[in-house]
Amino acid sequence: IKTIGVLTSGGDAPGMNAAIRAVVRVGISAGLKVKGIRRGYAGLLEEDIIDMTAESVSDIIQRGGTIIYTARCNEFKTPEGQQKGADILRKHNIDGLVVIGGDGSFQGAKKLAGLGINTVALPGTIDLDITCTDYTIGFDTAVNTAMEAIDKVRDTSTSHERCSIIEVMGRNAGYIALWCGIANGAEEVLITERYDHNEQAIIDNILQKKKVGKRHHIIVNAEGIGDSFGMAKRIEAATGVETRATVIGHIQRGGSPTCKDRVYASIMGAKAVDLLTEGKSNRVIGYRGGEFVDYDIDEALSMTKDVDQYVYETARRLSR
Ligand code: ATP
Repeated sequence: IKTIGVLTSGGDAPGMNAAIRAVVRVGISAGLKVKGIRRGYAGLLEEDIIDMTAESVSDIIQRGGTIIYTARCNEFKTPEGQQKGADILRKHNIDGLVVIGGDGSFQGAKKLAGLGINTVALPGTIDLDITCTDYTIGFDTAVNTAMEAIDKVRDTSTSHERCSIIEVMGRNAGYIALWCGIANGAEEVLITERYDHNEQAIIDNILQKKKVGKRHHIIVNAEGIGDSFGMAKRIEAATGVETRATVIGHIQRGGSPTCKDRVYASIMGAKAVDLLTEGKSNRVIGYRGGEFVDYDIDEALSMTKDVDQYVYETARRLSR
């Protein structure tokens, strides 16, 4: 391997820049040329490819987002698109590729590996919804951002003796919601993996808490459940407690990455280059059982995971 490429794909996540920086710097120190492919697979098909130098990644470790941009690309889901992508990589002498993104992006990396390009994928998503790993780049920053936002809503909610429904991101996964549920001391945590849509139970709980003099009621609702505004209306009508919904939204995707995201993303970026220089391909890097590990992409994609039942029950016990 003489030249490697790096791209970010799918939703952006804080810490992606730290991973890009590690790929570039470790690659260069291993004697490789490193190229940045801008705007994910879409940019690949448009040959939006730039040379990366050690200087080109200076002053980015503390920045959210991704300096090489990210995108989604339907053309790359077709065999023709994938072949075109592999041909373009060859034309630019790129024989190893680091893909930073989610499950969808891993599928693309797998297809390129099948076409003879050595690929290593890194889990980059705030949602933590990648089954082969306990950590994804961006989750720690996003969950801290959500936690701080909920603290602020809680102050005003307490002052006005309101019920607040706060919707956090995570797509269909409830990890951000569950962590905030515990970290923010929420009365309810609603996550897709467990919520039974029994709104009456929530209403009864609010009425009971009101009786014992509780001055606020925080409900953390996961994006996958949604309908926070509708829920607020129904709860207010049923309880007589003023209820407001706040959807935190894209604030959770931005901002300066936490120390954990910077460090873990840097280690994963370095490991990706190490795997490529060892001649490995079709691998995904994960963090499991306290160690950085790597799996075959097919094996990684066939794994399943669920929120930890003990953690979920603890969140519920703490809210009672
Ligand atoms: P996130 O979950 O954070 O949005 P993701 O990587 O799962 O990240 P997707 O939109 O699913 O996001 O995928 C990103 C891109 O990867 C797609 O736009 C497409 O270019 C490519 N991709 C997705 N699925 C496939 C597939 N089956 N084969 C080839 N490429 C794919």
